[in-house]
Amino acid sequence: MSDNQFDVVVIGAGAGGLFTAARLAHQGYRTLVVERLDKVGGRASTDDIDGFKVNVGAIVIEVGGITQQTCEEVGAPFDIREPKPPILYRIGGKDVDVTGGGWGFLLGKLTRQAAKLVKGIGAARNDSGLPEDELSTAEWVAKYTKNEGVHGIFRNMCASVFAVGSDELPARVFLTYFTRKSAFKRFGFHPEGTIGLWKGLAGVVERDGGTIWLSTPATKILLDGNRVTGVEVLRDGRPVRIDAPIVVSDVGPAATVKLLGEENVPRDYLEMAQRGDRPTSMISVNFASWERLVDVPGMLSFSKSRRLAYIANFTDTCPEMAPDGWNLYVGTSVPANPLGDFDEAAETELLLQDLRDNIENFDERTRIINTAITRDDWPPQRAVAGFDLPHDTPITGLWNVGDAVKEYANGGTTACAETAKLVVDKIIAGYPLAVR
Ligand SMILES: Cc1cc2nc3c(=O)[nH]c(=O)nc-3n(C[C@H](O)[C@H](O)[C@H](O)COP(=O)(O)OP(=O)(O)OC[C@H]3O[C@@H](n4cnc5c(N)ncnc54)[C@H](O)[C@@H]3O)c2cc1C
Repeated sequence: MSDNQFDVVVIGAGAGGLFTAARLAHQGYRTLVVERLDKVGGRASTDDIDGFKVNVGAIVIEVGGITQQTCEEVGAPFDIREPKPPILYRIGGKDVDVTGGGWGFLLGKLTRQAAKLVKGIGAARNDSGLPEDELSTAEWVAKYTKNEGVHGIFRNMCASVFAVGSDELPARVFLTYFTRKSAFKRFGFHPEGTIGLWKGLAGVVERDGGTIWLSTPATKILLDGNRVTGVEVLRDGRPVRIDAPIVVSDVGPAATVKLLGEENVPRDYLEMAQRGDRPTSMISVNFASWERLVDVPGMLSFSKSRRLAYIANFTDTCPEMAPDGWNLYVGTSVPANPLGDFDEAAETELLLQDLRDNIENFDERTRIINTAITRDDWPPQRAVAGFDLPHDTPITGLWNVGDAVKEYANGGTTACAETAKLVVDKIIAGYPLAVR
């Protein structure tokens, strides 16, 4: 093989791309990853700002699920530190640990209707107990209670896991996730910031003979009729042609279609990719303090807030994420109308007001490291859960991975790991190395 011939080109070194590349390289496929940015991790990466490890997106990684399993299968480090307890809920001014108590214990703190709600959640374990697609999570909760605290808890769970409000998320997705999926029951932080996980996976790709080119955007997916033949990239500013019979794209179907050229894609697929391009939005305020500001080791969620879905405390478990003596936190919200237009300044102010309400003398005691509005082409989820596109494409040798092509009722980096496994299994079945 010449330098520019590979078995597989993976476009994008985000979670989906690196899980895919690590699996394929580990199986012996000669794998090239091209990434337009100068670092790995995509929307789950980390910036260094004055010595603070500031995550650009994903903050927690699931423990005990497919992410950890993938790392173990390919021999990548999995240095995720779990806060114990992982999450507390601020209810009526108290931070409540519901570990081991389940839904009944949590909801029982808020309403006398808890037993009915818990029964409704339990019923969803059978298909017949799942509501129809059209019912939103907020509407489903409203069938049981008007209690604002309960609505707040559900709204903030939808925000934390799916990056939309309870009005946008189908109840069927919420209930499927919490009754049938691993559902981030255990999670933790990486001491280098989330980028640490992806650096480990990138190391595995290279250890197993793969190649990663950073600062190298793909500009075109090359076709012969309906079959992939490679990718054109810009390397050091010059167009370079890479030959490969398999291409896996981590940039989402809508951007993949642009790389293919819309004229080369069957109309029904083109329309589906454009229709499915419904990114969600979040706002995050990363802040630091000399003092420990919340008495929780990991995440704090809220039954009552204007917008604030959670505060994460990184430095109890991962003091490496901040310069000596500093505590590092993030407070995150989902704005109103997270799938459409919203007033960024007004929504950021609502989040800051919540932070001021929940942390005494917030402005005096904290240094704001940055405020990040993630939306459009840098969204917290490229598709609302329940409205995902398939990872298969009508082009032979081409698949999508990542959070635009999640399996039903999954979210975040866990969902990306799942797409990678499904796609790699198909590649191994369709393009076994022995007959290459
Ligand atoms: C604020 C926020 C909080 C979040 N919290 C969590 C959390 O706590 N836990 C969790 O699991 N998930 C969380 N998520 C979601 C998680 O970050 C994403 O689901 C996941 O990172 C998506 O990965 P991906 O591989 O699908 O896409 P991406 O990360 O977008 O990867 C695609 C990569 O492709 C690159 N690229 C794009 N175009 C090209 C091109 N033409 N050529 C080459 N490269 C290209 C991009 O630069 C990028 O690196 C959060 C997201 C946000 C924004």
